[in-house]
Formats: sequence, structure tokens, C-alpha cells
Amino acid sequence: MERGKKEPVEVICPRCRFTQIITLPVTDLPKCPECKTRMLISELLDEGKSY
Ligand SMILES: [Zn+2]
Repeated sequence: MERGKKEPVEVICPRCRFTQIITLPVTDLPKCPECKTRMLISELLDEGKSY
């Protein structure tokens, strides 16, 4: 992986399923604006997976 390259990832709230796109690296995962729960990385967008 290239150093310093921005990597977009999708984060998801485990409680209300709110999703947001962030770019790595991040110092801290964002909190859900709806319920203030720490959000989790849903998937790496580069992999192109779909549900
Ligand atoms: Zn939430």
C-alpha cells in the first residue's frame, strides 16, 4: 500500500445502520450523529463487495 494514500472506507453504525464515507488514515472512528455510538468500518470500498 502506498504511504500517505487516502483510502475511502464506509463506516456503519451498529445500532441504527447509519452509514458514512470516511478516508483513512483516521485517528479515531467517527461517532454516529444519530445515537452517538462509535461507528464500525463496514467494508473497504476498493474491494467492491456488495451485499
Ligand atoms: Zn446510530
